[in-house]
Amino acid sequence: MRPEILFPLYAPVTSLKGVGTRVAPLLEKLAGPIVRDVLFLRPHNLVRRTPAVLSAARDGEIMTFELTIEEHQRARAHAQPWRIRASDPTGWITLVFFGRFTDQLEKRHPVGEKRIVSGRVGDDKFGRQMVHPDYMVEPGKAREIPELEAIYPAVEGLPPRRVRTFALEALERAPDLPEWQDPAWLARERFPSWRAALARLHEPETEADLLPQAPHMRRLAYDELLAHQLAMAQRKQDRRRGAAPRIEPSDVADRVQADLPFAFTGAQARSLAEIRADLAAGERMSRLIQGDVGSGKTVVAMCAIADVAAGGGQSALMAPTEILARQHYETIAAPLTAHGVAAILLTGRDKGAGRVEKLRALASGAVQVAVGTHALFQDDVVFQQLQLALVDEQHRFGVSERQRLQSKGEATHFLAMSATPIPRTLELTVYGDLDVSRIDEKPPGRTPVATRAMPMGRIGEVEARLRQVTAEGAQAFWICPMVSESEVSDLAAAETRAAELTKRIGPGVGLIHGKMTAAAKDAVMADFADGKLSVLVATTVVEVGVNVPNATIMVVEQAERFGLAQLHQLRGRVGRGRQESACVLLYDPPLSEVAQKRLDILRRTDDGFLIAETDLELRGGGDTLGLRQSGFPDYVFADPFAHRDLIAAAGDDARMILERDPALTTPRGKAVAVLQELFDWRAGAKLKDAG
Ligand code: ADP
Ligand code: MG
Repeated sequence: MRPEILFPLYAPVTSLKGVGTRVAPLLEKLAGPIVRDVLFLRPHNLVRRTPAVLSAARDGEIMTFELTIEEHQRARAHAQPWRIRASDPTGWITLVFFGRFTDQLEKRHPVGEKRIVSGRVGDDKFGRQMVHPDYMVEPGKAREIPELEAIYPAVEGLPPRRVRTFALEALERAPDLPEWQDPAWLARERFPSWRAALARLHEPETEADLLPQAPHMRRLAYDELLAHQLAMAQRKQDRRRGAAPRIEPSDVADRVQADLPFAFTGAQARSLAEIRADLAAGERMSRLIQGDVGSGKTVVAMCAIADVAAGGGQSALMAPTEILARQHYETIAAPLTAHGVAAILLTGRDKGAGRVEKLRALASGAVQVAVGTHALFQDDVVFQQLQLALVDEQHRFGVSERQRLQSKGEATHFLAMSATPIPRTLELTVYGDLDVSRIDEKPPGRTPVATRAMPMGRIGEVEARLRQVTAEGAQAFWICPMVSESEVSDLAAAETRAAELTKRIGPGVGLIHGKMTAAAKDAVMADFADGKLSVLVATTVVEVGVNVPNATIMVVEQAERFGLAQLHQLRGRVGRGRQESACVLLYDPPLSEVAQKRLDILRRTDDGFLIAETDLELRGGGDTLGLRQSGFPDYVFADPFAHRDLIAAAGDDARMILERDPALTTPRGKAVAVLQELFDWRAGAKLKDAG
């Protein structure tokens, strides 16, 4: 139930003055459908309308003058503007108006009268002018012109100043809400109240008020982080409630592990121990194994699967693509089968009698493990006793998809795997509702990938080298970035590249891109994996984590456009065998200093966590695109870099609140519930995050 105090903020934007059928869709596009969304708009700039005289007018600046109307020059032709010539004792200016109602201008601003006029000055070969002044008021009403004005984002048809009017009205509607923050923390951080923080947001007093470190900005960010952390902590709490099957470490798993031709790394052993402790605890496990591609997550998961099977339960391992599912299946099926644990592969390709047979085996319990794609959570897939749901690259699935899989068992344990490195400081925001095991150690014997950055001008050398090594049997990935806003032109660029490489290298060049159907993508990937193609050109990271051991070269075009974590993952696709591998990062010169440093870190280390952390620091949080791709939430106020110190505090705060008051019934608890409603980060509501 939504608290009544929030009703005004949940009214549709049309309840704001001046928002009718024309404006509403524009405002919705910019902010969202309700008043709260307009209230949460953030100005990104500040204009000072300092009064000046015309002789001091500067081209391009926003200025305010006190002018006398001298003459109206009506439009002579339809497309021409209406002009008003005006002056002050130091000079003159032309005010220019286009549009429909210009004939009313003469009545509103008669010759001889004084007006305070504010707007952007143009001073060029057409003379000094101001097109559509922002304000034009009688001297007695000069106060209507704010000296400092926040500039809002705008959309076509809705200029920033209209947006500001709506934001200020939304602010008027914002009620004082009961304080949900701890008083001691508020005092320590010098946070204003929620209402005061929003007032400062929309009526900034200095340029510094727009910065993320301003106290009111930190307050709003903290509110948002706390709401989110609470939602995740609640979800974790809910999952724990209700007993889950107790699964003990088994001989079967030990034997499966002993049969592997290698010993676990310390990090693998530790992760398996953490999973086993969860499984034996009698509460539902919600754990993530995080580790680079090839760090050995799947074999750890395989041992957990063996434990479950030994206890009589079933497991389902879901991957985002068919080819990944098949690779997982190939990794785990034989070792498990050797010890009496039967596994099947279930993908969209299974049809007819074959599929029916597999489903029957799952329903009867004849098979203990199902590896697959989306095909796994379809309604007619029934398990005899699903106890463990595993999801690889879980951020590529929707929450409801993961839940559909889990709901095929009762109190199913949940284990996610991810190769997307998240900086430690941000882990809570992405995986706050999961316990995390990190595999931060690589299996021994891997040859590091030789990484080089080269300007695009040297692409010819790269192509010549590719021609040589592919002739000797090597395989290469060639990644073209998403650069433009238009997918079509990105695709065209990739097609051109593929055609050019075909010319230089020969017919063994394939192309894979996001517009292809899943089946078509899988087919191209399979050809590449089988060695039928020697070069695979791809538009984006289509197949994170795919294993093509023979591929030893990774070329990335316009590498400076990628997130470092993404580049690291791309590079992780080569260097998986004992052969020497190379990664070539082609860039468009000149590189900025930061871009240079970013590419440099890749040359210096292959520790994904270190790379992610350094990337965040180098970007200063300015570009969160890479973060979003890895599942970082789309916050309104919280900035992943500037507010990173608040993340851990919000996580601790959330846990403490729930420990003391799990049902949120105390006065602070009730205030906190209002906060959560305010941000929609509610357990079970529209979830954008993990688990
Ligand atoms: P991930 O799932 O993290 O990508 P996998 O579990 O699929 O990694 O392992 C990648 C490859 O490395 C597999 O061929 C696996 O057999 C091998 N491997 C895993 N752990 C080790 C280890 N400790 N020592 C040597 N090789 C290993
Ligand atoms: Mg894997």
